[in-house]
Amino acid sequence: MTSTSQLGSLLAAEEDKLLACVHCGLCLEACPTYVATGDENDSPRGRIYLMRAVEEGRLERTSRTFERHLNRCLGCRACEMACPAGVQYGQLLEAGRAELFRTKERRGWTNRTLRFVLRHVWLHPKRLRMAFGFARILRDMGIVRLLIKSRVPRMISGRAEFALALLESSSSDKLTKSVGAQQSVKATRREAHDVRQSKALLFTGCVTEGLFARVNRATRRVLEVNGCKVNAPEEQVCCGALHAHAGDLEGARHLARRNIVAFDNDEEIAIVTNAGGCGAMFLSYEHLLADDPEFSERARKFSARVRDIGQQLETTGVRASSALVDEKLTTYDTSCHLLYGQRAADASLKLMLSVPDIRFVPLVGSEVCCGGAGVYNLLETELSSRVLDEKLNHVEETKAETIATGNPGCHMQIGAGLLLKEKKVRVCHPVELLDESYERAGFYEKPK
Ligand code: SF4
Ligand code: SF4
Repeated sequence: MTSTSQLGSLLAAEEDKLLACVHCGLCLEACPTYVATGDENDSPRGRIYLMRAVEEGRLERTSRTFERHLNRCLGCRACEMACPAGVQYGQLLEAGRAELFRTKERRGWTNRTLRFVLRHVWLHPKRLRMAFGFARILRDMGIVRLLIKSRVPRMISGRAEFALALLESSSSDKLTKSVGAQQSVKATRREAHDVRQSKALLFTGCVTEGLFARVNRATRRVLEVNGCKVNAPEEQVCCGALHAHAGDLEGARHLARRNIVAFDNDEEIAIVTNAGGCGAMFLSYEHLLADDPEFSERARKFSARVRDIGQQLETTGVRASSALVDEKLTTYDTSCHLLYGQRAADASLKLMLSVPDIRFVPLVGSEVCCGGAGVYNLLETELSSRVLDEKLNHVEETKAETIATGNPGCHMQIGAGLLLKEKKVRVCHPVELLDESYERAGFYEKPK
């Protein structure tokens, strides 16, 4: 009992949020894991009940039930939007996972591997860059594709095969018509006078820069076409979302402080992201560092400057472009963190729809999580793939040949699912489509 009450303090700090739940159950149908399993413990209400039981000392925090059902939560936060009582479920989940993270006897080699990678790779930018560099070599030399085709990983485990498919799905294959890496914007003819419109600090993101550098280049060019001078501070690091979702709040705080310092130069300049997961994490810095006397106020100011690329383009306005060549039927999947965390999904879709004559078809269930959720797909592979199957069925119904989404995790999850089902659908970021239309409009030039 002593250990429970002592270690229950993280949840105790969130007691008001736990008590806010009135058990009405209106969130249940919005929860993908409850819909998939029908188990109350896999619902927001059930998980809040378990957290309260730990907080009140009625359940050991080491209990398998507590661990299992908290781990099975996607962290998509769809329940927050459905909840009439305004329960801040995302913050409760973080506190609950933090209880689990500091459980010394944490079970399973996957959890121990995750803990090792978060602490000894992800917190160290040089090591992380090396790891992504190695992954790119395997991907770009075609080794990953060959391994998947050999079916050997499938024989080892579905998880191994899916991990390779995630990496392969990030590649710029023949379905991807990205603008050339070396192309730059011709002298900007559009002048913006408001500092919020004329300058932006780009958050490049560890996964985006590591595996989707083309999306960062597209973001930069599109901002420049729209009169925005772009800088990307060199000292920036991972946003900390993986750490926070895994319950490693100390790791997340460490990264948050480093980012706040890296972007601290001008309080008026927007911090622009193209990854819904990173943007939502940035908005949570204020809560994450609320007890840090040196950083709490700086965190609040930092969060207030964060915009998704779609939101930033709403500020600058979008310069007219040209229709795409060989226009395919295109659909859009909403990243949960862009929708429920950043509340910026409409702006992201609007960005995509600004491409002239785009042949858009809506996706049923676009607002439902794809099952990616950071590394959830590698930890809870079976449940993740059930959630993904539902998404892929809806994608197939659209008959779209292109699907755009504003988060690298969703891109890889949907891309991996399509790859393993041998579906030829291009996955891209909305800003890549606008970038391609700008190239066609003649706004870019090749290096001399
Ligand atoms: S965050 Fe998503 S998966 Fe978790 S309880 Fe809420 S709706 Fe369900
Ligand atoms: S909708 Fe809100 S108050 Fe109702 S059960 Fe779900 S979390 Fe609790």
